[in-house]
Amino acid sequence: MYATVMHGPGDVRYEQVEDPKILKPTDAIIKLAATCICGSDLWPYRGLSDQDGPAHMGHEYCGTVVEVGSEVRNIKPGQFVVGSFILSDNTCPHCDFGFQSSCVQREFMTGAQAPYARVPLADGTLVATNEIPDADMIPHMLATSDVLGTGWYAADASQVREGGTAVVVGDGAVGLMGVLAASQMGAGRVIVMSRHKDRQKLALEYGATDIVEERGEDGIGRIMDLTNGVGAESVLECVGMEESMHQAMGVCRPGGTIGYVGVPHGVSFDGQQLFFGQKRMLGGPAPVRRFLPDLMDRVLAGKIEPGKVFDLVLPIAEVAEGYKAMDERRAIKTMLRVEE
Ligand SMILES: [Zn+2]
Repeated sequence: MYATVMHGPGDVRYEQVEDPKILKPTDAIIKLAATCICGSDLWPYRGLSDQDGPAHMGHEYCGTVVEVGSEVRNIKPGQFVVGSFILSDNTCPHCDFGFQSSCVQREFMTGAQAPYARVPLADGTLVATNEIPDADMIPHMLATSDVLGTGWYAADASQVREGGTAVVVGDGAVGLMGVLAASQMGAGRVIVMSRHKDRQKLALEYGATDIVEERGEDGIGRIMDLTNGVGAESVLECVGMEESMHQAMGVCRPGGTIGYVGVPHGVSFDGQQLFFGQKRMLGGPAPVRRFLPDLMDRVLAGKIEPGKVFDLVLPIAEVAEGYKAMDERRAIKTMLRVEE
């Protein structure tokens, strides 16, 4: 088959690779209904994270199971499934505690920007629907696999509560999902930091109540004004840069919580600032598996439409353009159509 391979920064190709096959008895092979490009795929694309050799890209996926290994018990061929970008057994102590993203058998999904993909730890990782969803549900189901699950975790980790105030730092796809999550969790006020008109529009649609265009100290000042000098009890940091973390710290009230889901690049903390600031932090790769059944139910019930975050849809053969469009910020997030 043809699949997406990154050969180096800026060099993404749709090229011939070996067909995925069952390597371990706990694997499944799925036929993708659609796939997409993640903001985190842009780190190696921009040369900002190390890569040794060509890499099979793609970790967001949903589709139909075509084959399972001999030890797979719950997942069956013909089922429609969604899985997390982190593969987990869903039985170890960390999984039991709701942190499947730290599973003792943790692996990171790869190779999903392709028509077919191998999913290790299929029983623990995949969640099946009762029926095959309609075609118009596919973008929304696909979004639960990572981008919504990650935004949801940011809201969960930052302890968003009914009637509370949440600040979302970052208006990328994850930030927008953070807005949706905070709103679904009942936050009374959802302030999003965004300078892009198209993203502001979607944020408002997803439940944002205030938009702050300023950044840095000005942005912090503006949010402090909006919160009567108090700050927010829940801050969703959805970027991972020094400036965004600084903003998150600056607007979090004492006793408040920062949920940080942007992979930190060049971020450092001052111990005394943390100590005297009295801010709680929880972050890391999202345990999407914990949220998946609920998120898939919400999608299928028509309560949420996370797939609106895909503002560019391309045939997978044009995946290179999909990366370029996101890199140049012409697209928030690219969905890739998979055809035979
Ligand atoms: Zn586990």
